Amino acid sequence: MFDNLSDKLDKAFHILKGHGKITEVNVAETLKEVRRALLDADVNFKIAKDFTTKVKEKAIGQDVLTTLQPGQLLVKLVKDELTELMGGDVVGINLSGNPTVILMSGLQGSGKTTFSGKLANYLLTKKNKKPLLVACDIYRPAAIQQLYVVGDSIGVEVYSEPENKNPVEIAENAIKHAKANGFNVVIVDTAGRLAVDEEMMNEIERVHKAIQPHETLFVVDAMTGQDAVNTAKTFNERLNFDGVILTKLDGDTRGGAAISIKSVVNKPIKFVGTGEKMDAIDVFYPIRMAERILGMGDVVSLVERAQEQFDEDEARKIQKKIAKNEFGFDDFLSQIQQVKKMGNMKDLVGMIPGASKAMKDVEIEDDAFKHIEAIIHSMTPIERSKPALIDVKRKARIAKGSGTKIEQVNQLMKQFEQMSKMMKMMQGPGGKNLMKMMGG
Ligand code: GDP
Repeated sequence: MFDNLSDKLDKAFHILKGHGKITEVNVAETLKEVRRALLDADVNFKIAKDFTTKVKEKAIGQDVLTTLQPGQLLVKLVKDELTELMGGDVVGINLSGNPTVILMSGLQGSGKTTFSGKLANYLLTKKNKKPLLVACDIYRPAAIQQLYVVGDSIGVEVYSEPENKNPVEIAENAIKHAKANGFNVVIVDTAGRLAVDEEMMNEIERVHKAIQPHETLFVVDAMTGQDAVNTAKTFNERLNFDGVILTKLDGDTRGGAAISIKSVVNKPIKFVGTGEKMDAIDVFYPIRMAERILGMGDVVSLVERAQEQFDEDEARKIQKKIAKNEFGFDDFLSQIQQVKKMGNMKDLVGMIPGASKAMKDVEIEDDAFKHIEAIIHSMTPIERSKPALIDVKRKARIAKGSGTKIEQVNQLMKQFEQMSKMMKMMQGPGGKNLMKMMGG
């Protein structure tokens, strides 16, 4: 995420590291590079200029030059300013209605339908809500179909009236249907066009006026940079929306939209989309995003994700198996599955402080565990529970079955052995000391 920008900012701060004594000139030079980095990331010129002016004023105010670590203080000032620019505090969505009505707006292809599904899934699984998805696109039958596919995949009902050409009526009927059937959130997916046009704007404005949503969300593709900001402005003038959803942050996004949009429309970014799957949705935390941009990682999100996936019963079961020397490849596989549920590897690595930079030239596959899983799947149940049985002949068979090389099988066996040994050590009498040594 935002690798290029992170890289350039890192280089900007390097200017300060190279000097024994830091002067006003170095600080000015650093800030000039910071500004350049922001411009390259497609941040609007005025915003980038104001940004560095503000940081400079604060730096002078805090007497950066006389502090012990001026470089670090400047990074902190940049982080604070970035956080402020992206909205400061977290702003959640208003779920006070009964039902709560949420209207989705945005251009075609921005990710509205996908996000409607993600939001429904999030409200269902994390907020204990019963959402209803509503298809209000009267122009493209395929769009209605797409919402059904999304709804099916997450087990959420979809409301549509394929014969009705009046989106206001469809939305109103959907709310009635929700009230009558115990749905407490109604998510209305609307038609988008490829570019802003008057007819579309009038239509969504009519729907907006008629259903008076509790939340009007504007969905925008982060990859479109300044265009995203301009589109946001137009939609905001017409709908006075409540929040922005930035999608496709997992792609090669430069960052300009995330950084500029809040200050242009003065509306918070509420969620971000980080992939095509239904669970690729994150609440937007400006401070965490600023830290990620500055290569400081995002440990809080990483721990939260680990906690979400942590299964106490499973952990206890594994512990017992280790104690009895019964930890096998099936258990290894279930551990991998748990890690995978936390998100894609690239995203996870980005959350570890410094890791993005250290691993910037390493190609991380989206499915980094593919080979390991294939190898384990090619083992027989007996081999999985008694890895010691796996001799050279068996290894060759497993490699063939999994489409991998025998070296890869060997490597996995070795990793597994080391992991088992380590686990045993932690369980044994010396375990307490080992845990202490590791800071536990
Ligand atoms: P709509 O026309 O606004 O309803 O947009 P869609 O929901 O159909 O999304 C357009 C395309 O973007 C689809 O191929 C989605 O799979 C993809 N998409 C949506 N959100 C994301 C995201 O967060 N990341 C990625 N990589 N793709 C996304």
